[in-house]
Amino acid sequence: MTLRFSVLASGSTGNAFYIESGEEKILVDAGLSGKKIEQLMDQVQLDPNELSRILVTHEHSDHIKGLGIMARRYNLPIYANEKTWTAMEGQLGKLSVDQKFLFNMEETKSFGSLDVESFGVSHDAADPMFYTFHQDGKKVALVTDLGYVSERIKKTVEGADAYIFESNHDVSMLRMGRYPWNVKRRILGDSGHVSNEDCALALTDVITDQTKRIYLAHLSLDNNMKDLARMSVQDVLKERGFELGSRLELHDTDPSSATPIYEV
Ligand SMILES: [Zn+2]
Ligand SMILES: [Zn+2]
Repeated sequence: MTLRFSVLASGSTGNAFYIESGEEKILVDAGLSGKKIEQLMDQVQLDPNELSRILVTHEHSDHIKGLGIMARRYNLPIYANEKTWTAMEGQLGKLSVDQKFLFNMEETKSFGSLDVESFGVSHDAADPMFYTFHQDGKKVALVTDLGYVSERIKKTVEGADAYIFESNHDVSMLRMGRYPWNVKRRILGDSGHVSNEDCALALTDVITDQTKRIYLAHLSLDNNMKDLARMSVQDVLKERGFELGSRLELHDTDPSSATPIYEV
């Protein structure tokens, strides 16, 4: 069996990630309207009626905007940790008791043949966490919305076949840009977002011969550009001896179009 995934949407305007293994079809976050998520899934021939469940990373609106709607419309169970449930529950509308499930920090849950492991990140939400997906020795790591990449996180995500990794901003664009200073400080701080350069440096510590693809994710609309992010990451990787090419590819993500399904 293979792991197949698509980054349906990525960025501060809304995030949704899809991953499947056989009959198990998971949505991670639903940070856009229900209608928009349906459209994004349709772009890559996915049917929301076939979804098995929704996992949540944290309660920021760019991750849960359409969560209640999607869960009700397709009768899906939602998984999040306790603090995230407390923080987001009031914003989801009515859910039945059998739709609410706990996914604790640093827990591994098995859904069919797919093992999902959660890990905590430093970010300004109640108890933010992200996930790695394992199946038959294959591994996919989803890592966005974090202030910095700790050694502990690096250990958890090391050696994945594919990364969806935050490359939020270019530090000088952010510094010179129009954001008020307190917002700049938040983004640059330890519980904000990872810059292009920090993304690249973290990647050089975690990618191995097994790694085939890196998707640069959660790009800031105001403080980054796809080309700039790609170039910055590429430069650092090259400098550290990682040659990009057919065996290691760098891919974009987009706030409003889904990446083609990739099979690991
Ligand atoms: Zn976010
Ligand atoms: Zn966030």
